[in-house]
Amino acid sequence: MARPIIRRTAIVVNPRRVVQQFAQCFDGSTPELLVRAPGRVNLIGEHTDYNDGFVLPIATEQATWVAVAPGQGRAVRAHSVALNETVRIDLDNPGPPGGSQRWVDYVRGVAACLISSGYRLAGADLLVDSDVPVGGGMSSSAALEVGVAKALLGISGDMVETVELALICRQAENRYAGVPCGIMDQFACLLCRKDEALLLDCRTQHYEHVRVQLQGACFVVIDTQVKHALGRSEYPLRQQQCRQGVEYFRQMDRKVQALRDVSPEMVSRHLSQLDPVVAARCHHVVTENQRVLLAVDAFKKGDLGQVGKLLLASHESLRDRYEVSCAELDSAVEVATGVEGVYGARMTGGGFGGCVVVLAREDAVKPLTEAIEKRYNRVHPKPARILKTLAAAGAGLETL
Ligand code: ADP
Ligand code: MG
Repeated sequence: MARPIIRRTAIVVNPRRVVQQFAQCFDGSTPELLVRAPGRVNLIGEHTDYNDGFVLPIATEQATWVAVAPGQGRAVRAHSVALNETVRIDLDNPGPPGGSQRWVDYVRGVAACLISSGYRLAGADLLVDSDVPVGGGMSSSAALEVGVAKALLGISGDMVETVELALICRQAENRYAGVPCGIMDQFACLLCRKDEALLLDCRTQHYEHVRVQLQGACFVVIDTQVKHALGRSEYPLRQQQCRQGVEYFRQMDRKVQALRDVSPEMVSRHLSQLDPVVAARCHHVVTENQRVLLAVDAFKKGDLGQVGKLLLASHESLRDRYEVSCAELDSAVEVATGVEGVYGARMTGGGFGGCVVVLAREDAVKPLTEAIEKRYNRVHPKPARILKTLAAAGAGLETL
């Protein structure tokens, strides 16, 4: 099934706009509740999640908003402004798990997984509006799941503990959209706090809020708007190469369950015995886990210069050792890091396209935008889209 084409406009969604859209869509009625579910950017810790390692996302100011009112009987109607499409599901028969990424699959997946976890849902009318780029690596999918889940629960008068809700939304994405994502996106969307990043241990699901002292700096996301098909075959290959690394180190130490249990020193000591490609993949993962923890320390100390260096080191490792970057991402990082007032930049997300995250002083954002305009957009056929954000709050109800 072909993916829907979604309008990519630089809209900014706000509660007033959402209420207006709701009335237009549902015969002039007003919503009872409004949920804001943010996108996320992973600051550092890439390809560490499936190796039981660490990630450090923030929630973005860009968010998916879901307005909701009671519906008729057991019916859920949901309208997406981005797609200009209304879908209908029956809570008594949300349908079987699927594997297509139609947007209805996220909605019925969330409903089905909440119901099968024992929560009682009532019929509802939902309006979904978003300024998170769709399919751009800022996790519009988790924002949609979390927004729909909170809206359905809110209107049904039920509540779910936050971590459980994150796991239910992830299950919806895994089973109903057929996307084998880890836990980061839903955890970030639900648990992040304003002015804090979320240090998440993907093995234990333990998390810690890390104060992000920005001192007049901000995050800039450069969305290359490209997605190379190569990523689809390379991703499982990277997972397999990591497993090969684990098998090797397990022969020496039975306690090694994942690359999380391997130190950079162990990799260095065994370089000559390891297959060179596997060694490079292991090197990235074990040093990336270290970089996440070093970045946490640097943020706590307010040492943005050090954070910037770690971002760049992460990018170089993803480019040279993990080989998941591409010309557009490298070029965006190069242009960004050449701008005065930029602390550092790196690709974020799985790679082969998607976004670059930049840590920059506020006064560097304009020159950065101009540099991308001049030195990136004139070279690459698709212009990059630039978004700015601070570390925003996780999902919650908003006043209408
Ligand atoms: P992302 O990096 O943005 O999470 P995904 O491919 O994981 O990219 O998820 C994108 C999919 O999520 C879309 O194809 C669509 O099915 C669904 N989606 C996300 N946001 C919206 C929205 N506002 N309206 C409708 N569908 C959406
Ligand atoms: Mg997604």
